[in-house]
Amino acid sequence: MSTTSRPSVHSTEALVLRRVEYGDADLIVTLLTLSLGRVSALARGARKSRRRFGGALEPFFTLHVTLEERRSSELFALREASVLRARTGLLGNLPALTSAGRVLGWVRRAAPAHTPEPEAWSIVEELLDRLAAGAERDADVEVARAALKLLAAFGWALELERCVRCGKLCPAGRPASIDPARGGLVCRECGGARVRVTPDIRSRLIAAAQGRIEELSADDARFALDLVERVLETHAPGS
Ligand SMILES: [Zn+2]
Repeated sequence: MSTTSRPSVHSTEALVLRRVEYGDADLIVTLLTLSLGRVSALARGARKSRRRFGGALEPFFTLHVTLEERRSSELFALREASVLRARTGLLGNLPALTSAGRVLGWVRRAAPAHTPEPEAWSIVEELLDRLAAGAERDADVEVARAALKLLAAFGWALELERCVRCGKLCPAGRPASIDPARGGLVCRECGGARVRVTPDIRSRLIAAAQGRIEELSADDARFALDLVERVLETHAPGS
């Protein structure tokens, strides 16, 4: 058995979820990584010299990073960072930037630490690419579709076909009510819920959550985003 203390080094793709200044010259970055999930890392000298990480530590850039585990700390050490995809298309597009920031904020709250979530990674990457490409649709519609899929990736998919209490199927074409804190529909016999949903919106949300390409309207999207915020408030309260 080796007795050397050679550190464990990881190379992976990453997105910067948050940057916090540390000391005079350093940053602590929260990263969503493809192979390690959400981790925090100390970026030494990141503020002293922009060249230290080549100006790579920007939100919405997909990076290639080298991270070193530190024996006595949850915090990784960021050794190298380079830009794989800069998404310059987001610059100057305020609605897209705002939407992208909103989604990264959710991921920072919802992604479990040190747990790879390749599906969530792909959903976020695809969304950022679409927003940067100047998707022809309303940014809210893009975000709502991604958000419904993200909930499913984190195991919090909204149940929109059956009552979450008794399991009774709500037939298509029937209005229903949703309790986001309880994860979906609650039938009348089980006490119902405050958020009413029409049959049409319900069927479009089900389709969107399954990744089908049906159009969500801008109104559907705002309805869905409100639900998503409430689900996150239950599982991953904002800090
Ligand atoms: Zn019920």
